Amino acid sequence: MSSTPLIETINVNLWSKCNLRCAYCYGDFPERPRQASREEWLAILEAVAPYTRRITFCGGEPTLNPHVGELLDKVQSLGLQTSIITNGAKLTERLVEKLDLVGMTLDATDEPTLRALGRSTPTWPDYYAGLRRCVAMIHRVGRPILKLNTVVSRLNLHVDLVAALRELEPSKWKPLQFTVVVGENEHRAEALSITRAEFDAFVARHREQLPASIWVAPEEDDTVRSTYVMVDPSGRLFSTATGGKLFSAPILDVGLERAFAQVGGYDRERFVARGGHVDVVQRRRLSVLPGGAASPE
Ligand code: SF4
Repeated sequence: MSSTPLIETINVNLWSKCNLRCAYCYGDFPERPRQASREEWLAILEAVAPYTRRITFCGGEPTLNPHVGELLDKVQSLGLQTSIITNGAKLTERLVEKLDLVGMTLDATDEPTLRALGRSTPTWPDYYAGLRRCVAMIHRVGRPILKLNTVVSRLNLHVDLVAALRELEPSKWKPLQFTVVVGENEHRAEALSITRAEFDAFVARHREQLPASIWVAPEEDDTVRSTYVMVDPSGRLFSTATGGKLFSAPILDVGLERAFAQVGGYDRERFVARGGHVDVVQRRRLSVLPGGAASPE
């Protein structure tokens, strides 16, 4: 294992398709990579397990992968923490019971803004009502830590999420500055981009009104770009550190270490600075989150 540092979280894009069309999305994979099979994912999880503490399933929409439950079982059997980033499309209580962390997206609460963002669509209206149902289910199950992400762009810079965050009670709120990824969303850059000062003001306006039980963990553009270790739907590592996507050879062909070197690793200093190294699952057991905030448990 030698030169590769512990990677606290490996983000696995389990499924390239999604039922939503978010304006800012950079998980659409216009390259249309081949979809790894169930057997390949099982082998990939075994190959990366020695290097990490947690597997985060994302996409596209990971709950659309028909094998997601079995793959979560596999992650658990490897002794790793389980995590998912989902829009809730097919999130069930059975899946929630297998998870240590669930990340969902709260970009706005009003329907016009959600529609403009592509979060509510004619075929799946009222995203916010669905989010509230999912969050209630997560709290009812009680096992996973709830994280809410907000992608802050020109389309929702005006919103006030304080009341919603107080009601939904995430352990962690992660506002992310809209990020341009070449080949994914650069055609929307002008309409969506905001400045660092605008992003900081959005975060500060919320932070001062939120209870200490919510860990606020903002990520500006550069951090979003360079601090994630990601596996594409075909089983290759990829990085967006240079603006577009850089892909490795398939992990099953070259192993994680060589794949990691092929995409230039990741910016661990920045990763640590954003608190990515903090084991929130372990911290919750100790009832303390970064910043000294008591956890909800
Ligand atoms: S829910 Fe996620 S993957 Fe789906 S379109 Fe929106 S940002 Fe992209």
